[in-house]
Amino acid sequence: MAAAYKRILLKLSGEALMGDDAYGINQSVVSGIVKDVAEIARLGVEIGIVIGGGNIFRGMAGAASGMDRATADYMGMLATIMNAMALADAFGHAGLTARVQSALRVDQVVEPYIRGRAIRHLEEGKIVIFAAGTGNPFFTTDTAAALRGSEIGAQIVLKATKVDGIYTADPKKDPSATRYTTVTFDEAIARNLQVLDATAFALCRDQKLPIKVFSIFKPGALLRVVQGEDEGTLVYV
Ligand code: UDP
Repeated sequence: MAAAYKRILLKLSGEALMGDDAYGINQSVVSGIVKDVAEIARLGVEIGIVIGGGNIFRGMAGAASGMDRATADYMGMLATIMNAMALADAFGHAGLTARVQSALRVDQVVEPYIRGRAIRHLEEGKIVIFAAGTGNPFFTTDTAAALRGSEIGAQIVLKATKVDGIYTADPKKDPSATRYTTVTFDEAIARNLQVLDATAFALCRDQKLPIKVFSIFKPGALLRVVQGEDEGTLVYV
């Protein structure tokens, strides 16, 4: 089956890389993710990835323990660069070419974010991993996903989570909870559904950039999402 999208922006949280570990990068989880992404790359989809850093450091946690929030946020952004490097390395081992572009300059290690160059890499079939979020404190990597997704002209933001979509209630607490197949941005606001954080959500809505929320741990889910099948929850204008 062919891909439903030509270019996508995949948002992976840092937590997705740690699996059941308490901290850091779990290599077998990373190879699982790489295998899933390889499947969609084979369909010819151009793939941009924004990676989080929550498995290593979160600015809010640093601030809660007394650090200056902006300093802590910069540390969080640095954490995403480590994740991006681990992911790019794993793509390389799987025979895929990935480039890391960072919103904070660390020129000895990864490329700086340059929009035109990122688009060129995508056109050449390389995976581009966007690191260091937006490069600004007080933002999140969800917002970076909305931003980079808009900038590269992605047709959709794919938000990989632990749950296979957005539910009417927390499925762990309420067994009668059902998954939304689709929901509009307006409905999501009216029902107070948490899709992305507020800034990211507003940007996608402005740009009419749809979001698909799906489980990264469900086998084959990413492939089905990219093939446009009923998987996860689609949020659209
Ligand atoms: N961060 C930031 N600006 C950004 C993106 C991220 O300051 O544009 C910092 C922030 O401290 C955040 C950390 O980087 O807690 C890790 O990102 P995030 O929490 O979004 O990662 P995830 O939850 O996806 O693992």
